[in-house]
Amino acid sequence: MPLTEFELIERYFRDCGAARSDVIAGIGDDAALVAVPPDTELVVATDTLVAGVHFPEGSPAASIGHRALAVNLSDLAAMGARAAWALLALTIPRAEEAWLAEFAAGLAALARAHRVALVGGDTTRGPLTVTVQLLGTVPPGAALRRCGGRAGDALFVSGTPGDAAAGLALEERRLAAEPLALAYLRERFLRPTPRMALGERLRGHASACIDVSDGLLGDAGKLARASQTGVEISFAAVPVSEPLVRAVGEEQARTLALTGGDDYELLFAVHPEKVSAMLADLPPERWGYTRIGALRAAPGAEVLREGTVMQFSHSGYQHFT
Ligand code: ADP
Ligand code: MG
Repeated sequence: MPLTEFELIERYFRDCGAARSDVIAGIGDDAALVAVPPDTELVVATDTLVAGVHFPEGSPAASIGHRALAVNLSDLAAMGARAAWALLALTIPRAEEAWLAEFAAGLAALARAHRVALVGGDTTRGPLTVTVQLLGTVPPGAALRRCGGRAGDALFVSGTPGDAAAGLALEERRLAAEPLALAYLRERFLRPTPRMALGERLRGHASACIDVSDGLLGDAGKLARASQTGVEISFAAVPVSEPLVRAVGEEQARTLALTGGDDYELLFAVHPEKVSAMLADLPPERWGYTRIGALRAAPGAEVLREGTVMQFSHSGYQHFT
């Protein structure tokens, strides 16, 4: 017998997230009721994943559950916020129990890891579409914004961008790699790691922050524009993983790192006089971030190699001639 909507919610989503004492009413009432601590600002984000647009049709259900929350967690990380409560609006073509169990498990593991309670949502029938809304908190005035940078700020990125774009290409068989690199890169697309701890620790250090979801270069341009500056990135400084270099070569690895997407790393600017305190407080080798460039007065986003400006398109780069 097919599951009713009520059974589906009870079975897969009632205990999906973390248990939190500040949830007064979670799943089961008309709306969720949460106790917001005094002296905090609420930080709220939502993101939708559509099958065939944001992930390949037939992606593992656990990965879809993980990514739906991860993309929202990453937005909160970029604000320097701590996540607390999530809502899930799920549109599915049919109630397939094995798929739902895997999807909920993928979502639950990440939610519990970051102490996020699933407090409500909506369930509808239609083409597979997953929307998560995530709420979190930050001390008043402490949130990181895109707009706080100024010319001369050093620019840093966490992790090794480009891996996820290669992972997606491998998933879609547009790329091949040997088994170890393939496993690592696929995982980087299917289960991105939102940089929650780093985001929180960057409060007081970073002048501006954005999460890298649409490609490092484009997102650097967004941060710079919001800060009313431009940005310069050194091609040689862009960090790339060893498996990515093995799969596509060093040149293409850096190109993918700049123009790929789905990284969910943090890109942040730091006033020059604050750099040494940050490096001492958050040792880069432990926290996993790299200096890749600087904000500048002239508008635009440029990548420099040995003094030459490189030109990028989605398919790669050509030299500026
Ligand atoms: P209503 O008709 O009042 O919107 P629903 O039947 O849609 O009620 O939802 C019942 C309860 O289940 C609500 O608390 C709602 O937030 C929750 N809910 C519905 N779908 C989901 C879902 N996919 N994930 C988590 N909670 C859900
Ligand atoms: Mg409803």
